Amino acid sequence: MRGRKVRISIQKKLFYSHFISVLLVSGSIGTLVYRSAVDSLFASLQSRLSYSAALLSRAIDASLLGEIKGKANADDPAYLAHLQLLRDFKRSNQDIAFIYVMRQEGGRVYFVIDSDESPAQASPGDEYLEDVPALRQGFLAFSADDKATDDEWGTFLSGYAPLKNGQGRFLIGIDMRADEVERKFLAIRVAGAISLVLSILLAYVFSTLLARRIIRPIRVLVARTSEIAAGLLEGEATVRTGDELEELADAFNKMSTRLKMGDEKVRQAVLALEEANNSLERRVAERTGELVELNRKLHQENAERRHAEEALFRAATTDYLTGLLNRPAVLRVIEQEIERASRSGSMFSLLLADIDRFKEVNDSFGHETGDRLLVAAGELLRTRVRGQDAVARWGGDELLVFLPDTPLEGARDVADKIRYAFAQLAAPVNEGACGLTVSIGVATFAVGESVDECVRRADTALLRAKSEGRNRLGLSAPS
Ligand code: GH3
Ligand code: MG
Repeated sequence: MRGRKVRISIQKKLFYSHFISVLLVSGSIGTLVYRSAVDSLFASLQSRLSYSAALLSRAIDASLLGEIKGKANADDPAYLAHLQLLRDFKRSNQDIAFIYVMRQEGGRVYFVIDSDESPAQASPGDEYLEDVPALRQGFLAFSADDKATDDEWGTFLSGYAPLKNGQGRFLIGIDMRADEVERKFLAIRVAGAISLVLSILLAYVFSTLLARRIIRPIRVLVARTSEIAAGLLEGEATVRTGDELEELADAFNKMSTRLKMGDEKVRQAVLALEEANNSLERRVAERTGELVELNRKLHQENAERRHAEEALFRAATTDYLTGLLNRPAVLRVIEQEIERASRSGSMFSLLLADIDRFKEVNDSFGHETGDRLLVAAGELLRTRVRGQDAVARWGGDELLVFLPDTPLEGARDVADKIRYAFAQLAAPVNEGACGLTVSIGVATFAVGESVDECVRRADTALLRAKSEGRNRLGLSAPS
């Protein structure tokens, strides 16, 4: 299983690497400087002590101190004079703790003069029990401690020099207190610590500035990339660092410009496509409209043609005045029925009705009235017969009724009904009423007979009815 990655920002990485580098370099340099400062301070202290000792050593003649060997010599004028000299020198050098003259005899070291003004002052002849290498060397040549030395008076750093005319048996020593030495070193350490803190601060400031300087353009690029990802192609990443980051930003801007141009082309193409699509839709709509209009006109023309045909058919098959079938039309109906009847063997009959003395009606009431009466007569017949029967105007005031599936008796009954109805018809004429009668010839088809023959027989029967006095039937059974 892979562990979770710890995310450390580039800014932090830059900061830490730079900060640590600067710190290491400045720390190393600081340590070197500190060490050399310590060394040089130590060396200067040593040289000062040995130089001061050498200076004093030339001012003191050992031959004047040869007899000062014990406490009893403390009143000796030479002792007192030299004691005063040492104390004066000490007072004029605040950092010096003690100045003393020592004598070496038989491998042992004794105090001759001690500048100490406290009760702990060593008396002449007091033995100095510490074995200090630099002190031993000081009887012969200038020397100084290479480290602080402890004795019963404290901890010191000391310089030594042999006395004039001492012949290797007298020296003068100068003690600088360790706390004084320490104070001087402390000053160096404080300076070192301050410079360390300053270098840390500077490293921090420079590292922060460097990290910011590098990270700011990167942030600008990241922000611009996010904008492009969100579809905001306008604008550009502004980086003026004069380095590779600026070059990167320039290259990035070129790339985004190309992207914008590509996007613009795609947008234009989509617009052109939409426009083409719209225009296609418009043209389709126009064509559809035209087709719908054409279709409507076609339907209209069809309907008009049908009406015209129907009107033509009606004109060809109906009587213009009464609206009944005309002679050719009813003859076709009868022909078809004869054909059907020849297969089924059914009987059918014809009525030929002629209005009695119709000429007189015309003469008396006018031709228009005659026309209206003819229309009424046709209507009467139509309402008195069955749906399958056919009523036609045969000519003039003659009307023909065709009765399929009807033998002579049935035809006679129908004819009687019609005749009766005619007699009842009191047609309104000139504010009065005009009575009409009708004579009807009835004929039933004989097998093998033609329509004309049958009509002729009906006509004969009609003539007979007329001649017998009108308003009656004439029957003609098939022969
Ligand atoms: P009848 O039949 O009783 O012998 O006497 P009629 O006067 O009816 O004589 P006929 O049938 O021979 O004459 C038919 C008359 O019908 C002639 C004409 O004046 C009249 N007629 C024929 N066609 C029309 C028509 O279309 N309109 C009008 N108003 N009269 C017509
Ligand atoms: Mg008539």
